[in-house]
Amino acid sequence: MQYHAFVIKYAEIGVKGKNRYIFEDALVKQIKRVLSKCDGNFSISKVAGRVYVEAEGFDFDETVSALQRVFGITGICPAVSVERDGENNLPDVNGVCQEVIKFVDGVYPDKNKTFKVKVRRVDKSYPLDSMELAAEIGAQVLDAFSEMKVDVHNPDILINVEIREKMNIFSEIIPGPGGMPIGTAGKAMLLLSGGIDSPVAGYMIAKRGVDLEAVYFNAPPYTSEKAKQKVVDLAGVIAKYTGSIKLHVINFTDIQMYIYEKCPHDELTIIMRRYMMKIADKIAVETGCMGLVTGESIGQVASQTMQSLMCTGEVVRDMPVYRPLIAFDKQDIVDISQKIDAYETSILPYEDCCTIFVAKHPVTKPRLDIIEKHEENLAEKIDELFRIAIETDEVIEIRK
Ligand code: ATP
Ligand code: MG
Repeated sequence: MQYHAFVIKYAEIGVKGKNRYIFEDALVKQIKRVLSKCDGNFSISKVAGRVYVEAEGFDFDETVSALQRVFGITGICPAVSVERDGENNLPDVNGVCQEVIKFVDGVYPDKNKTFKVKVRRVDKSYPLDSMELAAEIGAQVLDAFSEMKVDVHNPDILINVEIREKMNIFSEIIPGPGGMPIGTAGKAMLLLSGGIDSPVAGYMIAKRGVDLEAVYFNAPPYTSEKAKQKVVDLAGVIAKYTGSIKLHVINFTDIQMYIYEKCPHDELTIIMRRYMMKIADKIAVETGCMGLVTGESIGQVASQTMQSLMCTGEVVRDMPVYRPLIAFDKQDIVDISQKIDAYETSILPYEDCCTIFVAKHPVTKPRLDIIEKHEENLAEKIDELFRIAIETDEVIEIRK
């Protein structure tokens, strides 16, 4: 079947009252962004509570998979659109029925199906009303294909016919990712490591319409260039959904070494994590972010017990810390990681900075007062190291 258009369905953003246009405009903007990278000519329009993509010279699979990366879309309906003729008329009733018959024939080689016709008549000047036209189309489809049967309650095929500027016919609904369009909810700073969890956390927050920047704590020469490249690649995976992302690479080596030298080794991870959070908080403020995002999940490792989360979260003063995976089991996280094509990159075996300095027996129930006491050992140099780490922030623009 030669499709010419896609009718885009969206759910949640349809109910935003007076602000609805903000959501629809953001949706259109994101659709334009992903389609600008696909072959073909596309024209995107917003008409009477629907978004349409008209397409010429395009690759169907490429276009659909691009649209499946636009948050806010719940369904992508490939459509045939029929133009008005030279006198500005839509086809007459028989003409409409013929177009629908052609559509059904092209899309469903196996006719052993039940169907229902649903007509939406936006152009009220059309001579028949919706019910009359649906009944007529149904009758003619039955005449054309004797194996087909009508089922108005639970049809195999729901044939949608829209009479408006053009006539659109569609039936299939390819699922979209859901969520809200990027750009409708402000910006957050994702603490992105090379693991499985944080890219998934970023994806989930972005799916609520949140723009992201990301920060990675790098520890050369203890971590390799490959470990950094892995994080760049993971940022690229997220950028396919969000559009370009700024990735801040913070050189964390000196801070890490200093903590290693001055603090009890079983508390290293917690103290390091607190400094990561502090630095992230600071650059998040500077870049206009309204929250930090981590891939933490209760009980996953020693640094993610509730006591540890209390200690690491406590240093963040300027904004909330969002932990979208907090109650997820690992397998559920892995499933999403695979779905978004991050998994193969996440499992590459390059050390991230934490695995180098982990203690054999890290504390699982750190006490904040004790941690703070031990951090006093860092008083001499930590402010200076903190300042340098932020000043030497390497910003990489990740485009996809
Ligand atoms: P991930 O799979 O995201 O690496 P993890 O299970 O390995 O998570 P931890 O290493 O305990 O968990 O890290 C917890 C969270 O802290 C991560 O999800 C991430 O948000 C942040 N984080 C850890 N290491 C780094 C790093 N080097 N750079 C940036 N953020 C980090
Ligand atoms: Mg990790």
